[in-house]
Amino acid sequence: MAEKPNLRIALAGNPNAGKTSLFNVLTGSRQHVGNYPGVTVEKRWGHYKAKNQRIDVVDLPGTYSLTSFSPEERVARDELLHTQHDVVVVVADSTALKRSLMLLVQIMQLGATPVLCLNMSDEAMASGQRIDRKRLELELGFPVIETVGHKGKGREDLIEAIFRATELETSLATPSLGVDLDKAIETLSANIGLSGILAQTKAWVATRLLVGDESIADELGAGIRQESIEEAKAAAELLAKTNDQDISLLVTERYFTFIDRLLEKVVKSPRRSDARARSEAIDRVLANPDLGLPVFGVIMFSIFWITFNLGETPMGWIEDGQGLLSDWVTSLWPEGSDSALRSLLVDGVIAGVGGVVVFLPNIVLLFLGLALLEDSGYMARAAYLMDRVMHRFGLHGKSFVPMMTGFGCSIPGIMATRTLENERDRLTTMLVLPLMSCGARLPIWMLLIPAFFAPPWRAPALWGIYCIGILLAFVLALALRKTVLAGEAAPFVMELPPYRIPTVRALVKKMTERAWIYLRKAGTIILAVSIVLWVMSTYPKKDSYEVDAQIAQGVEFTAKEIEQARGGEDLRYSVAGRLGKAVEPLVEPMGFDWKLGTSMIGAFAAKEVFVANLGIVYSMGETTKDSDDLRNKLSRDYSPLVGFSLMLFLLISAPCMATFAITRRESGSWRWAFLQLGGLTLVAFLISTAVYQIGRLLGAG
Ligand code: GDP
Ligand code: MG
Repeated sequence: MAEKPNLRIALAGNPNAGKTSLFNVLTGSRQHVGNYPGVTVEKRWGHYKAKNQRIDVVDLPGTYSLTSFSPEERVARDELLHTQHDVVVVVADSTALKRSLMLLVQIMQLGATPVLCLNMSDEAMASGQRIDRKRLELELGFPVIETVGHKGKGREDLIEAIFRATELETSLATPSLGVDLDKAIETLSANIGLSGILAQTKAWVATRLLVGDESIADELGAGIRQESIEEAKAAAELLAKTNDQDISLLVTERYFTFIDRLLEKVVKSPRRSDARARSEAIDRVLANPDLGLPVFGVIMFSIFWITFNLGETPMGWIEDGQGLLSDWVTSLWPEGSDSALRSLLVDGVIAGVGGVVVFLPNIVLLFLGLALLEDSGYMARAAYLMDRVMHRFGLHGKSFVPMMTGFGCSIPGIMATRTLENERDRLTTMLVLPLMSCGARLPIWMLLIPAFFAPPWRAPALWGIYCIGILLAFVLALALRKTVLAGEAAPFVMELPPYRIPTVRALVKKMTERAWIYLRKAGTIILAVSIVLWVMSTYPKKDSYEVDAQIAQGVEFTAKEIEQARGGEDLRYSVAGRLGKAVEPLVEPMGFDWKLGTSMIGAFAAKEVFVANLGIVYSMGETTKDSDDLRNKLSRDYSPLVGFSLMLFLLISAPCMATFAITRRESGSWRWAFLQLGGLTLVAFLISTAVYQIGRLLGAG
């Protein structure tokens, strides 16, 4: 039924303001979901009927502003610029009005016919906030309503308000940004040259031109009178000079002044909620400009300490269980038999997959720690504190949240960079993000750190490796900012949410989710790669051994030594051994031998494979099952210097395959993905080599 709509409306708003909830409330089940052409941003559209009219609704992607260019914001902006909507419903989160109104002001400038929907009104009410809706309606000149989106409350009001908005006769006044700015915008728009549907966007386009937004000039170039761009430049210079302030900051500040004045008139918070008061008290310490960062360091340190120390005991249980399993499997075959299947199960699957599964408790603990930080509201403070530091490195406080997400896994971290407005901020963050040591690398640290560090130094070493990652990310970000991604970081606007006590349910959910992802990965990718690696390190087999030749010459060995020597020769003769030998010259400058070299190759598939692979290599190399665990074998074979150089290399070098793929997708080009892969690996090589060579010179080898 290709019926023509009588009205076309759009829902706009900040992420999580409740747009989709309201969309569902309006359209019921009559909806479609797809992607905007050319971008992976979700598009949802549908329709409803009211007063015998058909009303088409589109749910725009969540955005904080229309000024900038994350894919979401670009899509929302384009849709609002180029499509005629009869009404634009701005969905505001009533508990974060300031941020929501920032978008409203821009939409007003666009000349749209808005309806302001104060959603989350239940939460605002509960916190004691009262909004004088009638007064707000009067001030703004268009309908304002209150809703509770997820409960469907306010549906009728919303439908009614949309009709009311279409009946507004006079064209709406644009928000006042102060006499001087208003004047400049008016003068510019009078002659800007936009026609057709774009004509109504004049005030907004003029503002964009004033702040020197080149993309809008490029995009609408043909529509804009060429002289206007020059005029805007001159006007901006004058404004900046008379106000003694950067023009973009000036405009942002004026937007906020407009919003503050408005809110002063209509919002009453009769009693400051207890939660707010408590949050502010806590923030005097936690978000303190001097104390905040050291406290943040201590909090992170505690998380790593717990990850390490509380993880040891359950880890021991899993290890014991695996020992029993592997003994049991071994006992299925007669003693001394040379079964390939047994070796595959014991040396391949149990040593490989088991070597990874053992670290499950640590993973769960780390994610518990991160979930606590996130759900309590502390993470937002961390971002706020880091903003000052990060600006020096050409990064953005906002980048810190995706980066912290990267401690879990780079993939959601890279996706979370979508919240960054500026394309350069976003690319910079994305490219350095794999330096945040992800959960898949935790097993590596759990294996290597105890092998090379004395007990009191283990938690500090773990903390140190994360800090090195962060620091290096900053340094590389700065390097990118000075070269291929030159430009200024955008100013940071962020509201700190109140502290909340995290619910046990949410925490348990996050942990089980993570545990499950980890186990699933162990049961699929790691299992598959372990089998491949086992085959590669078993075949081809040797038929005569050097050690036998030596015995024939009368050299004496114990039975154990003979077995070990044969195992070692077999391994070196196998495909994996040869591959390792082939890469040895490449890894030698960093202090690694061929065993470490082979293990690294697999790590590109998934970082945990490094651990699985070492487990296999060591299990194959010594057919005698002595009680030595892998950590002891490592500390026997390598010096702490090699251990440290190895950790650095694994921290910095090539992100895993999945990260590579997601970087390609999110950056939209192979070029950035390859730059990340090649660049990080090169930096890793240089740093590890320098550390190893200098360490050796100093006699630490
Ligand atoms: P969108 O990102 O703007 O599309 O927001 P969603 O519609 O997905 O809503 C985000 C979350 O807020 C969901 O968990 C909703 O259930 C919840 N939500 C939506 N509207 C309200 C509301 O009025 N009050 C409360 N308390 N929660 C709401
Ligand atoms: Mg949504």
